[in-house]
Amino acid sequence: MVSYKELGLVNTREMFAKAIKGGYAIPAFNFNNMEQLQAIIKAAAEEKSPVILQVSKGARNYANATLLRYMAQGAVAYAKELGWENPQIVLHLDHRDSFELCKSCIDSGFSSVMIDGSHLPYEENVALTKKVVDYAHQYDVTVEGELGVLAGVEDEVSSDHHTYTDPEEVIDFATRTGCDSLAISIGTSHGAYKFTPEQCTRDPKTGLLVPPPLAFEVLDAVMEKLPGFPIVLHGSSSVPQEYVKTINELGGKLPDAIGIPEEELRKAAKSAVCKINIDSDSRLAMTAAIRKVFTDKPGEFDPRKYLGPARDEMERLYKHKIENVLGSNGKAE
Ligand SMILES: [Zn+2]
Repeated sequence: MVSYKELGLVNTREMFAKAIKGGYAIPAFNFNNMEQLQAIIKAAAEEKSPVILQVSKGARNYANATLLRYMAQGAVAYAKELGWENPQIVLHLDHRDSFELCKSCIDSGFSSVMIDGSHLPYEENVALTKKVVDYAHQYDVTVEGELGVLAGVEDEVSSDHHTYTDPEEVIDFATRTGCDSLAISIGTSHGAYKFTPEQCTRDPKTGLLVPPPLAFEVLDAVMEKLPGFPIVLHGSSSVPQEYVKTINELGGKLPDAIGIPEEELRKAAKSAVCKINIDSDSRLAMTAAIRKVFTDKPGEFDPRKYLGPARDEMERLYKHKIENVLGSNGKAE
């Protein structure tokens, strides 16, 4: 058993309470390699923003669970080296549907886990979430549950349609499970293809797709039922069109990739939404930067020469999100 406290990590409880009060949201950035981790930590340290390092089951398998624990521990030390005296860093398991995997993560140094029983019948979701909460809380690890189904594909999580969260269920769910935060479905979606062109309209000036608006009325109804309860939005990448354009112009193929407008996320961040998950945007930043090096310098074969610029681009992206979308800069001095 390795406690996250030994690794210098924190759970989400205090940072979520502050975020709701302060009207901002904490970034949850997915990572699975060193360059991504460096970029996240550098951005968070320079912005003095609390940050959630988010790991999916696929990322854990990719990076190796043991190595990952030391990477998280190293991230805390690196943050301090960068001059962040009191780093507020969470190691969080994204989307898992089994008690065993949540337990394994809690036992190996995660400070927060998500148990996703949203695909199960309601009573089974309650029972599974409660089982994880009962175990996690013994070690002061925080737990995120989910109600409602998100569309899109993310690692092994996929659904071809979404079902909005039913606000009538949230009080019962939060009370009976004891979960610390709740992921809800209001129209965000996993991956870089959040909407089909048929679901969108087209801006006559730019020719770009305009996605349908998020269901803020569902969020409002949830907040009314559970005042001050931490809400989480998954699938909240904005799929910056400059990256998509660069990728497509330089030999890539991402036709009609589309995300959630940052304006909508800014609005959500000011509410009880206190954790916003961003994964696809950093994948796009990385891919665009690497394609650019490969196009400009076809003779380059030193990985540092293309992963380095990719890392710089991700850092710029993370800082932009922290400062201009989530508003979490300066919240963890
Ligand atoms: Zn998700």
